Amino acid sequence: MRKNIFIVSQKGLNPSYNQWAKEAVEEFMDMFPDYKNDYPISNLGNWKSNKATINKFDYLRLPAEERKLAIPMTDGNYLAPYESMDWTIAIAKTSAFLKDRPNQMNASLILDLMDKDPTVQKFPQIAINLVKDDIFATTNGEPNNFVYGLGRFDGGMVLSTHRYEQQYGNTPLAMKEVIKTIVMHELGHIFGATVEGRNNVSNRDGYGQHCNCPDCIMRSDSVAKSDRLTNDRLKNKRNNKPPLCKECQAMAEAQMAQLSGNSQKIYKATNNFNRITNEVQRRR
Ligand SMILES: [Zn+2]
Ligand SMILES: [Zn+2]
Repeated sequence: MRKNIFIVSQKGLNPSYNQWAKEAVEEFMDMFPDYKNDYPISNLGNWKSNKATINKFDYLRLPAEERKLAIPMTDGNYLAPYESMDWTIAIAKTSAFLKDRPNQMNASLILDLMDKDPTVQKFPQIAINLVKDDIFATTNGEPNNFVYGLGRFDGGMVLSTHRYEQQYGNTPLAMKEVIKTIVMHELGHIFGATVEGRNNVSNRDGYGQHCNCPDCIMRSDSVAKSDRLTNDRLKNKRNNKPPLCKECQAMAEAQMAQLSGNSQKIYKATNNFNRITNEVQRRR
């Protein structure tokens, strides 16, 4: 199945981030040449449709469920549900938990809403949501303190530049590489590289299944830290090694094969995954 990858960003975010995210997707897809055509990439910036803003009468005509999701604006108009990045940001902020962090967005909610978006249901897509405000994620409704990024299997991702700006704001080159690492890491989650039940993965810190391999970007960044993941990725790149370890790469490819529905690709990717798992097991 063909899925568009759309890069969208919060209003006011430096457009360099969109470009870096695009480079990251391209480098990630370089690992999967058989699937490149299945995932065309577009940079949509601060995306909005021509129905993004609606007046009171349009608002009253919305189905009751959607009316609850519309966001009133100061000029009397409304941000219509699912029709703009501005709406996504506004609705995610209504779910901020901490009183002293009113701008901290619920990234899990953004991904939940994407699943319900009628357009996404009609045209399966992977959205890379780049935001400049802080984000948190929820596990069974319970919020955590914060996350840098969140990627969901068979869904999309949210990446916040907020905390990276504090760390790397004065060093754009370092910032670029860290952002690229996290985009690739979240793509790994989207393509199921570290799904539960696979060998050599664990949920050590409660932030989901991550890889235990020593220099793979699918290690948890709360354990390995983003700059360590980045240094290891760049070192691998200098040695012409991919950012994912063999097992993560083979697993992601097997998932892409499943999604393609192509029986030859499924056969090839499944065999490859089993071969690599056996190889790694033998070496241990
Ligand atoms: Zn992760
Ligand atoms: Zn790995």
